[in-house]
Amino acid sequence: MIVCKFGGTSVANAEQIKKVANIVKSNPDRRIVVVSAPGKRFGDDIKVTDLLIDLANAALKNGNVEGKLQSVINRFKEIADDLGVDHSIIDIITQDLRERVYSDKNDIDLFVDNLKASGEDNNAKLVAAYFNTIGLKAKYVSPLEGLVLNDRPERTYALPETYENLKKLNDVEEIIVFPGFFGYTKDGTLRTFDRGGSDITGSILAAAVNAELYENFTDVDCVFSANPKVVQEPVGIEEITYREMRELSYSGFSVFHDEALMPVFKLGIPVTVKNTNNPSAPGTKILSTRAISSSRPVIGISADSGFSTLYVSKYLMNREIGFGRKLLHIIEDEHISYDHTPSGVDDISVIIRSNQITPEAEERIVKRVKEELHADDVYFRHGFSMIVIVGEGMRNNTGLAARAASAISRTGSNIEMINQGSSEVSLVFGVLSEVENQVLTALYEEFFTPITV
Ligand code: ASP
Repeated sequence: MIVCKFGGTSVANAEQIKKVANIVKSNPDRRIVVVSAPGKRFGDDIKVTDLLIDLANAALKNGNVEGKLQSVINRFKEIADDLGVDHSIIDIITQDLRERVYSDKNDIDLFVDNLKASGEDNNAKLVAAYFNTIGLKAKYVSPLEGLVLNDRPERTYALPETYENLKKLNDVEEIIVFPGFFGYTKDGTLRTFDRGGSDITGSILAAAVNAELYENFTDVDCVFSANPKVVQEPVGIEEITYREMRELSYSGFSVFHDEALMPVFKLGIPVTVKNTNNPSAPGTKILSTRAISSSRPVIGISADSGFSTLYVSKYLMNREIGFGRKLLHIIEDEHISYDHTPSGVDDISVIIRSNQITPEAEERIVKRVKEELHADDVYFRHGFSMIVIVGEGMRNNTGLAARAASAISRTGSNIEMINQGSSEVSLVFGVLSEVENQVLTALYEEFFTPITV
């Protein structure tokens, strides 16, 4: 049994959906198909999910929604027409969208989620209808069948019973077409995952049916060792471990959602990232272990901007029992999560995603750290990027940090922070965002230039 997930560009129009059908047809093991909402058909096109968010916001402002609603319906209508699917499906989709737009708006989160999810939900119905039109026996299955999520306000995740509930999908005869991106809480309230969350749905289903493989179809041939928009023709990755992929997707490798690995990782189900537009390319395999080449300890380098640091110093900090705990408690009270905490004997920095902090929260934190922890110096700084060098081969490789630091120094950029994870498969450098691309390129050249003997 293979679970395959098709992202937004793979289902953006009729031509793409025909490719999906051919991929599904070409291997009878592909029995569960998870779909995103139609994505971009060309560079500056708008994803259906973004159209829906815009529609939801207009409805909340009591604006005129008919024009925006029609744009969404038209996207589905155009696909259905081009695929030659019976028009009754468009009536179903139109009615569904209308009901959602004119539904109760008292719970704003629920209202917005309900509209956001309609992109995947209706697309799954449409794709299932098309499969049946061409003789592929298929069935739309709703997340109501057992994809159970936790309640707000926590980050969305699937509750353990989900896996038990969805095991039954193994016994369905038809090809299952399942919408990505959302599920329902125990009391039946719809909730979506974060953006890009259809990857997570695919992974949950793969774990629930204990699939032999989870295929994630997108629009690139493979995962690249660095961002191809910054580095020219970066090396493609053939095999990568879950841990390496997790480190890379955490910071800028948008090809795969960073929460999507968890369900399959627990069961050791391999994942392949493949290209809908070039399905014969081998893609990238994500596995528990891989052969490590001693000549290439680094597998990938990622970079992400939008970080802030909270710097705290206090004389004899290292002797003070509970200092770190109290500091992190203040951050927790503001509902902020942190990414790294590099420290010295008398100082500590807490690295945080900037989008979590408001100027008011910043002021409150600084005040409390000064008053409650009697720190000597406390301040926030913004505008940082984290560059992460990742590779299982780094663990047994000496001199790697020195090579990285001298590559960065050749660009004339200052290293604001260095952090090596305890697992030693990643090394993080904090730099000012304006030098991010320069530093990424220098590091790529250092670790990936062909080795000449
Ligand atoms: N359609 C949603 C988004 O654009 C979810 C997904 O495609 O994975 O974020």
